[in-house]
Amino acid sequence: MNPYELTISQARTALDNKELSSRELTSSCLERIRSVDDTVHSFISVTEKKALQQADAADKEIAQGTPAPLCGIPFSLKDLLCTRGVTTTCGSKILENFVPPYDATVVEKLKGQGAVIVGKVAMDEFAMGSTSENCAFTIPENPWKPGFVAGGSSGGSATSVAAMECLASLGSDTGGSIRQPASLCGVVGLKPTYGRVSRYGLVAFASSLDQIGPLTRDVTDSAMMMNGISGYDKRDSTSVKQDIPDFTKALSEGMKGVRVGIPSEYFGEGLNNEVATVVESAIQSLRDAGAEIVEVSLPHTEYCVAVYYLIASAEASSNLARYDGVVYGYRDQNAESLIDMYRETRSNGFGDEVKRRILIGTYALSSGYYDAYYKKASQVRTLILNDFRNAYESCDLIISPVTPTPAWKRGAHAGDPLAMYLSDVLTISANLAGIPGLSVPGGFSNDGLPIGIQLQGPHFQEEVLLKAAYNLELATELGNRCPDI
Ligand code: GLN
Repeated sequence: MNPYELTISQARTALDNKELSSRELTSSCLERIRSVDDTVHSFISVTEKKALQQADAADKEIAQGTPAPLCGIPFSLKDLLCTRGVTTTCGSKILENFVPPYDATVVEKLKGQGAVIVGKVAMDEFAMGSTSENCAFTIPENPWKPGFVAGGSSGGSATSVAAMECLASLGSDTGGSIRQPASLCGVVGLKPTYGRVSRYGLVAFASSLDQIGPLTRDVTDSAMMMNGISGYDKRDSTSVKQDIPDFTKALSEGMKGVRVGIPSEYFGEGLNNEVATVVESAIQSLRDAGAEIVEVSLPHTEYCVAVYYLIASAEASSNLARYDGVVYGYRDQNAESLIDMYRETRSNGFGDEVKRRILIGTYALSSGYYDAYYKKASQVRTLILNDFRNAYESCDLIISPVTPTPAWKRGAHAGDPLAMYLSDVLTISANLAGIPGLSVPGGFSNDGLPIGIQLQGPHFQEEVLLKAAYNLELATELGNRCPDI
């Protein structure tokens, strides 16, 4: 077995037993990147020298006795997490040369535990997209099937983990961007409750929806990562003072007495048959494990896409106003006046999808339209949250598909943004409601493309999701699978 094939928990044991050093593990991942990244295109930058230094430091800590659980483990980071001294592009030309002077809190937490960062991975520009095709630098490819999308916006996170270029990754999820690429690439992706993980140092897309979370090869690793990144941070005013459990403890609990809700609205028209079959068999596995299956209703589901694209775009138009060529990154050099400089910088620096969102958002916030669009969307958002509150009176978690279909061919939705937006229909409600959501591999399509299962729970109940996901992983035996590349 090659060291890069280990999960975090397996690598932990090997490192602690001195069967393997972090330098060997890290070198093995770097070698893997050299051999497969020309095919999967996960990385925007590989920080080889720094990674090896971090690995040597981790080996010293391990030699001294009590390393932290993530010490010596190689990770990739979505390229919107600020890394001190390392370019953070956000997948955008406008930030092509942006080198942050500080680390995001989650990066600080990983480094504080002696983790190794092998590089920064591809994403849709400013996390806007569902395929990572909106990345200005490299477009990740589905490792299970060439020519198919990896999903997005954390596509590089998903491919780097699925292709075993690193043991795990951190991504971000504003409307499904961790869960959807995890589902399409056959790995585990967890979007924590809003406020569970600090967003300090995450380049903002839509601040009331964004959340950072792990993409891993199995459920145990997801729990280990949650232990490592959760917690209140005074630098993020929306982070919440909430006890942090040991998330790995929940895994060994069975499903007896756990009520699993099935929302009829998530199984309607447009759901691909193969996806439906995989979800049905997951429901059966949970039933076999002792869970009680109940029907629930989320009646406002049909409004989610409209509400999300108004709120997310409105927040984006405000957050992205700061990229004007003055303080950050790219500046047009030919303009003759200040106004021209703003216009040219933004016209040339942003890609089409980002411009589209800024236009939609600016329109929705403008006087005369604010009440009809932004305010109305915010009101419906509360109804969506109430749907979940009501549903959780009769169940402990909700099971559903992650996406209506498996991965599609690259370019299939090019030129049809609405079709792309509609593919997010099953993931965006968790962000609107602020609840946690997880994607765990459930099976494969006849074409060999992975299909994930989505589990959503009440606020701060990540443990129940991890427990159910772990039971599914035991049933499907799909943890830590690697495609032939
Ligand atoms: N696909 C959605 C969008 O384009 C979600 C993106 C995300 O979660 N960052 O906005």
